[in-house]
Order: sequence, then structure tokens, then C-alpha cells
Amino acid sequence: MTEVIILGTANAVSDEKHENTHFAISSEKRFLMVDCVGNPLVRLKQAGLDYRNLTDLFLTHFHPDHVSAVPLLLMNLWLMGHSRLINIYGLHPTLDKMETLMDAFGWQNWPNFFPVAFHRLPSEKMTLALEDSEFRIYTSPVKHLIPAIGLRVEVLNSGKILAYSCDTAPCKEVEELAAGADVLIHEATGDSPGHSPAIKAGEVAQKAGAKNLYLIHYDTRNGDPRNLVDEARKSFPGEITLAEDFMKIQL
Ligand SMILES: [Zn+2]
Repeated sequence: MTEVIILGTANAVSDEKHENTHFAISSEKRFLMVDCVGNPLVRLKQAGLDYRNLTDLFLTHFHPDHVSAVPLLLMNLWLMGHSRLINIYGLHPTLDKMETLMDAFGWQNWPNFFPVAFHRLPSEKMTLALEDSEFRIYTSPVKHLIPAIGLRVEVLNSGKILAYSCDTAPCKEVEELAAGADVLIHEATGDSPGHSPAIKAGEVAQKAGAKNLYLIHYDTRNGDPRNLVDEARKSFPGEITLAEDFMKIQL
């Protein structure tokens, strides 16, 4: 069984019930993470995920509310005796900055550090980033304030498709990533540059022919976020859910 486990749903400012937006995609054997914030080892434990099964980490873009905990995760895994390879995927500027950050923490001098492989992805539509016996994952650049990627995850044994918008203004690239998707996780930050209001997330889901829309990366300080579902309903006739921390979505 493959499932998405939502690890955070907030926009850049988190609160007690909403960590910054990130999630895991878990199969029986292993799990992947999309972005890495907060205190990852604690979060993974709370979500029932065994950190030893982390194989792949996608970094969507180099904003602190998406990647700030990568050094903590890597250091903690090292201290816990982790030995398995971890693949990290992202655009060139994202991974260049991450490598510089890790260098600043002196990771070259961490003895017996487990292998980490950086996979630098081109800023091209539908780049095949990962393909193995379980998943086929494509990335496309989206329209954010800095270089950023959205994802399309094809689960090979179930045939299910998950798409994730990342932080973006409404765009064609996400419609393509989400074409025929069973689940589209779309940001709903609101009407600000490089972001999307819920009604536009609904429009993208509708144009993509997605079946289920999950709203994420929302403002927890301004009113009731459940109103976002009503807003998205004006443009999307399918199922709409407000993503919540620790929610699970079967794929
Ligand atoms: Zn961002």
C-alpha cells in the first residue's frame, strides 16, 4: 500500500497544529520526503515513519519554510548510525545552495557519514527525475519567486497519480503535472505574488481533470482555513479537502 502522509500544511508561518508544508510518500519498503522543515526526526516518529526507511528527498525550492531542516535531518541520521544512501533531488540553484549550507556546517568532517547523492535536475518541463520499481516521478518548473519545481508521482503498482503544485502562481505547468491525477495537492496561500488563491487552485484542478484536490500551504492566522474549500468549490466540481497535519491519503 502506498500513501501520502501530510507532515505539514502551513504557509511560511507555522503554528502548534500546522507545521510548514511538507509530506512523505510511503510504500511498504521505504518512503520519500518532499521538503524538510521543523524537527524531522520527531515529526517522522509522530507520523509513524521509521527514519531508516528514508531513501529519497525532493527539495522543491530554497526557501526556509521548505528546506531549513535538511542539515538537522542529515546530522541526526548520522548520529543515529544511519548507513543507507539518501538521494536528494532539486534544481541546480537549490542543490548548489544546499551543498554550500552543508559545507558551512562542516559536514565534510563528520566521520563515517552515510552516502548522500545530489541529483541536479534541469529546469525543464516533465523531467523524469526518478524511476524505479515503485515510482516514476516527473518535475516541472513552476511560477514562484525563485526557481521551484512541482511534481507528478506515478505509483506503478496501483496506477494512481499524485501531483503537487509546490509554491506557485496558477500555471499551465501544474495542469500538465496533474493531468488525470487521482490526487492534486495544490497550494492555497492566497492572492500574493508567486502564490495561488484557493479558487485558482480549483481552476487548475478542473483544467487538469484531477479527481481529488487537497489544499495546502495555507494561512493559519487569517480566518478559518476551512473557508478555502468553499472558495475552491466555485471552480472545481470534484472532491476537495483541506489538508491537515498527519492526514493520510491512499494511492
Ligand atoms: Zn516558497
